[in-house]
Amino acid sequence: MPERHALPAPAIPHYAPYLLKDQRVSIVVPCYNEENNLLPFYERIRTALGHYTKENAQILFVDDGSTDTSWQKIEQLRANDPAVTGVRLSRNFGHQTALTCGLEHANGNRVLIIDADLQDPPELLPEMMRKMDEGFDVVYGRRLSREGETYFKKLSAWVYYRVLGRLSDVEIPLDAGDFRLISQDVVKALRNLPERVRYTRGLVSWLGFSQGAVEYIRHPRHNGETHYTLAKMLRLAGDGITSFSTRPLQLATWVGMAMMGVSTILLGYVFVSWMFLGTVPGWTSLAAIFLLSQAFQWFVLGIIGNYVAVIFRETKGRPHYVVRETVGGVS
Ligand code: UDP
Ligand code: MG
Repeated sequence: MPERHALPAPAIPHYAPYLLKDQRVSIVVPCYNEENNLLPFYERIRTALGHYTKENAQILFVDDGSTDTSWQKIEQLRANDPAVTGVRLSRNFGHQTALTCGLEHANGNRVLIIDADLQDPPELLPEMMRKMDEGFDVVYGRRLSREGETYFKKLSAWVYYRVLGRLSDVEIPLDAGDFRLISQDVVKALRNLPERVRYTRGLVSWLGFSQGAVEYIRHPRHNGETHYTLAKMLRLAGDGITSFSTRPLQLATWVGMAMMGVSTILLGYVFVSWMFLGTVPGWTSLAAIFLLSQAFQWFVLGIIGNYVAVIFRETKGRPHYVVRETVGGVS
């Protein structure tokens, strides 16, 4: 396939202060059939990393069951650079699962989550590092614009992030994907969240700590097509809402209450009709039974919804709280 949208890699100064601190950075890269992107990606992240050696950098590729030569490419990269490591999953488990695997195997003090298709610019790493030096535990990339994506994707993403923001109890940043630099504390806390449905960007928001943003323009894919089919995208969107909001479950309570109000008014009309307008025999009782049972059913559904919401919260098994730091020897 011909290379599309080849973008010149901007020259960015290395992030030198980081080396002095004797810390490690891990770059976690989920990849699924990215054979044509892996080398250009590697070159750009390597440039952004500057003089990092295997002692202070780890480039961790998670091959999410690729059916092309992605894994062989990862092995080749590894052969030439000991900072490169790879994990190959037994089949395609999906982006979020590959990401979870990457976070479990990353050994850096800081972890950068980035896509392999160069939509997230690796050159942003130094800026993110500097921002983290200012004291942020999470530095996420906020997309100022998206290039090379369909109007449908742009519009649906715009609407979705706003709906999610409204529904969710925690503040999930608008227009941010999983592209972010996170500190070791956050990685540890993230690993300790036992829930199986993992909407990573939401979980990171739920954790709190201090979060800052850097802005960037999301470029078109370097090569190939998106691996997020409509079905996968809908599932991710659904996971985001169900993991971070129980409001849809409680909707029935509100509908029930509204139905009760409407039914009361309609019952008044039914009664007046029966008294003064002469209705067909049986209509009054049928209409009354129908209206009352409708409202009652919604109401009961609402009660069940509330219980399901509580059960759902319990089964997720999230810790009650997450400690950021302590003072005075509290352990
Ligand atoms: N990806 C993955 N498993 C999948 C689908 C995607 O690991 O089942 C990876 C993919 O290789 C890329 C990142 O997740 O590095 C984002 O996927 P993609 O670019 O297809 O999604 P989009 O950017 O279009 O939302
Ligand atoms: Mg992409």
